[in-house]
Amino acid sequence: MFHRACTILALINLVSAAAFAQDRDAGSEAITLFENVRIFDGKGAPLSAAMNVLVRGNVIDRISKDPIPVNRSLATSIIAGDGRTLMPGLIDAHWHAMLIATDPAEAITGDVGYNNLLAADEATGTLMRGFTTVRDVGGPVFGLKRAIDEGIVNGPRIFPSGAMITVTSGHGDFRQLSELPRIVGGQLSRMEQIGGSMVADSPDEVRLRVREQLMQGASQIKLTAGGGVSSPFSPIDVSTFTEAELHAAVEAAENWGTYVTAHAFTPAAIQRAIAAGVTCIEHGFLMDEATAKLIAAKGIWLSLQPLPEELRQGFPVGSIQRIKADQIWPGIARTYELAKKYKIKTAWGTDVLFSRALAKRQGAILASLTRWYTAAEALAMATGVNGELLAMAGKRNPYPGKLGIIEEGALADLLLVDGDPLANINLIAEPAKNFVVIMKDGKIYKNTSSH
Ligand SMILES: [Zn+2]
Repeated sequence: MFHRACTILALINLVSAAAFAQDRDAGSEAITLFENVRIFDGKGAPLSAAMNVLVRGNVIDRISKDPIPVNRSLATSIIAGDGRTLMPGLIDAHWHAMLIATDPAEAITGDVGYNNLLAADEATGTLMRGFTTVRDVGGPVFGLKRAIDEGIVNGPRIFPSGAMITVTSGHGDFRQLSELPRIVGGQLSRMEQIGGSMVADSPDEVRLRVREQLMQGASQIKLTAGGGVSSPFSPIDVSTFTEAELHAAVEAAENWGTYVTAHAFTPAAIQRAIAAGVTCIEHGFLMDEATAKLIAAKGIWLSLQPLPEELRQGFPVGSIQRIKADQIWPGIARTYELAKKYKIKTAWGTDVLFSRALAKRQGAILASLTRWYTAAEALAMATGVNGELLAMAGKRNPYPGKLGIIEEGALADLLLVDGDPLANINLIAEPAKNFVVIMKDGKIYKNTSSH
């Protein structure tokens, strides 16, 4: 009797398990089957032979040469690949989602609600260019990220840094001279009130500002360790934070399981940041050979941007910004060559600022990497390699799972490309025409495959 009861219980379990499996097919989990696609895996390998890829929920469930059976009577999207290329969604590792559709004055003094709506519209544009993830390295982006994650607005996944942290007169200090002197503990400037950038002039202040970004959900922390082009009062040659200040940020970030990335151009600024424990350098365009060797030896990430010439020319001739840009630009090619020579872990980003026209060229800026890399290397950098950089956020990663690669178990951020981007990387410069399907987190945002 006891045995029979057990058998019946076991049977009930089996039946309910089967029913559950059917529920999974019919229920909340979306299922998409890509048939007959050639895969670019995000790691730089040549395109695969014809494959079938099953997406279940937000994950790549199965990749198979053989047909994958699905219940065609249920809500399964079946996409005929017709031999087109399936690749991971693109990742921009240096993006400022709040600072593209606006201009510098509006970004600081404008209406916050309006600025967020502008940024939301641009975020939708970003996703529709095939960029399914961005690492946001400065700006009040937490609200936008939340609205995207909640499905209110269509946009990319955002790895937010929150406010850039700078010193008085450093890169990111956009205050007017009339706002000086600052009283420590006194009223915040407008750019600080909106969370654009925060001024910190001691290890204690740095710790406080870093922890405030972490409290708001920062996945990594951005500091400016040296001068910058666009800020009015930071000469290019200066190192800004002291090593103790930089270390305070690193310690606070590491206590939170994540890392600090530092804006730095010069060897002195880069070397000091590394000495303080910073594990990612942004730009680095004035580095020398010795610094490149140090970066390689320590396994530090270098986040580079093939900044387009139009950006330099956009600064008025004779302006402080133009003079600084003229110093920086020749360093771009030199730094890429050093990165290649010493096999530095190199991330790719655009750093588009205050220009929707330039943002529309996000894919073209990626394609311009073929000055130094093969198409496969460039595309791997904007997918699998950038995915590795994002994973440095550790426990603060807002989207746990593998990004930037196509393999079973990875998050389903996918592009179906009409053509072979390894043979013609310029396909990614015209996303409206060439991206047939755009999927993020298993959800289809664009599908023109049946047309
Ligand atoms: Zn930037």
